[in-house]
Amino acid sequence: MQEITASQSVAYLSPEDEEMERQREYIRSIRDLTDRPQTYHVVTYGCQMNAHDSEKIAGMLEEMGLTYSPERDSADFVIFNTCCVRDNAERRALGNVTWLKEVRKTNPKLMIGVCGCMIQEPGMAEKIIRQYGFIDLAFGTAVLHRFPELFWSALHSDHVVLEVGGQDSVVEGMPVQRLRQDFAYVSIMQGCNNFCTYCIVPYVRGRERSRNMRDIVREVEKLRDGGVQEIMLLGQNVNSYSGDGTFPELLRQLDQTGIPRIRFMTSHPKDLSSELIRVMGESQHVLPQFHLPVQAGSNEILRRMNRRYTRESYLEKVHLLREAVPGIGLTTDIMISFPGETEEQFLDTLNLVDEVGYDSAFTFIYSPRTGTPAEKMPDQVPPEVSKERIQRLIDLQTKRQMEVMRRFVGSPEEVLVEGISRRNLQEVSGRGRHGVSVTLPGTEEDIGKIVKVLVTDVKQNTLTATRL
Ligand code: SF4
Repeated sequence: MQEITASQSVAYLSPEDEEMERQREYIRSIRDLTDRPQTYHVVTYGCQMNAHDSEKIAGMLEEMGLTYSPERDSADFVIFNTCCVRDNAERRALGNVTWLKEVRKTNPKLMIGVCGCMIQEPGMAEKIIRQYGFIDLAFGTAVLHRFPELFWSALHSDHVVLEVGGQDSVVEGMPVQRLRQDFAYVSIMQGCNNFCTYCIVPYVRGRERSRNMRDIVREVEKLRDGGVQEIMLLGQNVNSYSGDGTFPELLRQLDQTGIPRIRFMTSHPKDLSSELIRVMGESQHVLPQFHLPVQAGSNEILRRMNRRYTRESYLEKVHLLREAVPGIGLTTDIMISFPGETEEQFLDTLNLVDEVGYDSAFTFIYSPRTGTPAEKMPDQVPPEVSKERIQRLIDLQTKRQMEVMRRFVGSPEEVLVEGISRRNLQEVSGRGRHGVSVTLPGTEEDIGKIVKVLVTDVKQNTLTATRL
């Protein structure tokens, strides 16, 4: 769970369009209201896409004249940006919303909003009206750009304002309140066309829509001019970006902007092209890191997940990436206990993890999502089996991670410093070019700067280093 802080000035992403001009009318009208909420607090669940959406919500609220409140309980407007990809994120979000109902008893003017992909989930809109009628405002990701208009309606309504539908285009020009000055998320596309059988994203985030390359390049040039050191390009499957060019073409253009560091996520192995691997090898600013979700090591499970690659083709791409970018940092997502997963198929996943040697892995137990094909598949794996399997997977990954990260020891690295280390106030930490977290001696002065270091050791999932 992340919280937005108001540490930065508001900037416009890219050129105005008609829709945002209409929304700005609402922003101006709300700012002029004397009895509107004065402070806000945004609570974010889920992925980087959601974190970036929260930056846009905070940007719009700041433009409306509201100021950030670090305390959730004392803010006049609290909005939960929810995630429905996993069951527990959804439960936590609804639990926190219910808790705010109690807070309202001591603060009757409190306004509560809920947004994000959970609202787009089939049946959720009806549930909100039935069980959460105390909410003032609820809207899905597809209408995020209409937040000012919806907020205005909520201010003038005594019942919940609910909006889930939306257009299929990408709206440019939303204000954004960035979390950091040295690092920025840049959304390049939205939605997904892949329909993996366990995943709800295509149903709640819609089909793929890509931004124009010109708008993305312009945004990145502005970020570069504003001192941003690193960008993270975002999309559910950036490899299938199809604005007015391909993803490798976009990377080439961004490489030429001279922004120091470029990362991206997430990639789908089936769409990882040889052209992209070539660009990775040739570019100056695209960092040597690749997040390549494998999900499972068994071909039969991959087939039933509708992933449309095989274990063999995945391993071949890992090999080609390592050939083109020696030492590349590789990370992944792994889901265990997909319906019907046998011990043998689970062992295929363990073998693959052992063979690849990832720098880190996000590991999950499959949880059924309503409306997806996997929800109705037979042979759901019992919880006690899942618990035991996830522990074996974590143990193996921890061991392999320590082993593969030793390749960095004795090598130089460049670290974008993010903050003071939590364990030692004389140290700072940040990300190296390969995506691995690095701790080094330093002070607050280093935050936001790229520091050259020599890696000296590996500690759990972190590298330690001395300054060069
Ligand atoms: S690629 Fe698959 S897992 Fe990823 S968002 Fe699309 S459907 Fe979901």
